[in-house]
Amino acid sequence: MKTVVSGVRPTGRIHLGNYFGAMRNFVRMQHEYDCYFFIADYHSLTTHPNPEALRANNYHILAHYLAAGLDPDKAVIYTQSDVPETAELYLFLNMNAYLGELSRCTSFKEKARQNPDNVNAGLLTYPTLMAADILLHRADFVPVGKDQEQHLEMTRTFAQRFNHVYHTDFFKEPQAFNFGEALVKVPGLDGKGKMGKSEGEMNAIYLTDPDEVIRKKVMKAVTDSGPTEPNQEKPEIIANLFQLLRILSSPEAYTFFDEQYNQCQIRYGDLKKQLAEDAIRFVSPLRERINALLADEDLLKKTLRHGAERARESAVKTLTEVRHIIGF
Ligand code: ADP
Repeated sequence: MKTVVSGVRPTGRIHLGNYFGAMRNFVRMQHEYDCYFFIADYHSLTTHPNPEALRANNYHILAHYLAAGLDPDKAVIYTQSDVPETAELYLFLNMNAYLGELSRCTSFKEKARQNPDNVNAGLLTYPTLMAADILLHRADFVPVGKDQEQHLEMTRTFAQRFNHVYHTDFFKEPQAFNFGEALVKVPGLDGKGKMGKSEGEMNAIYLTDPDEVIRKKVMKAVTDSGPTEPNQEKPEIIANLFQLLRILSSPEAYTFFDEQYNQCQIRYGDLKKQLAEDAIRFVSPLRERINALLADEDLLKKTLRHGAERARESAVKTLTEVRHIIGF
């Protein structure tokens, strides 16, 4: 069976974009691949989070994963810091990672520009740590969005380089996992682009948002003054609302409002009411499960311990070989 690895940074909250763009696909993949899904808490240290926040964020992500349907007996779900072999492999890979290529990395340049007072070595070597995450389980596939493609390319470079330096074919070159049809882009509520946690509080619907908050966010979504001609093309802000309707509402509701639009009879208020109720119908059971899981710290702890044991089995195997190859 092919192996899949993916990580998520334990910062911020999880919104519908994360759910449809990533989590839901992980839930499907666990039945078809050997999956390792981890919480990238080492990575998050680049911004120096306080210990309480770090712990809480790890549990927060885990509760979302479990609530969405990841099964800890199928997929291996773990926190990166529970598997110190990650750090050891990171150290080895760093010996053949060069300042030039690391400092040319787009995400490094962007972060360095945003936070000029915190350009630390961890930030520079973020791609080697990510390569360690992936190569640790000798992954075939890595399901990530477009923004991570450069990191994945660097992972392949580091794998090739290790193989070349030590005259081995030990590391495979992991490929981006292509979801094809299944990849849904969820637009934000401000009409301008994708739903995301950096686009302002009102842009995203989070899986832990109470009903009232969801209603308020949807009712405030940006619209225009309405179509002026029958069957005219929808401008982006309206097309985005319809895309949300397509994702969250029934096909009948979508068709109804689409026809109203085409006949210039659309009432955006009605559309938003429908969308709000359907978003609530979708989010509220997830939210209840997430909250119940968050209240059960013992279970979360046990789940992570179980995941760590399984992840370490694979990690120790890799590191035993790697140490031997290197000459230790
Ligand atoms: P954000 O954009 O809120 O910072 P992240 O970059 O942490 O979210 O994304 C985590 C995962 O969720 C990635 O796999 C990404 O592709 C997916 N994702 C994020 N936003 C969306 C969206 N609006 N639609 C589809 N997938 C998304």
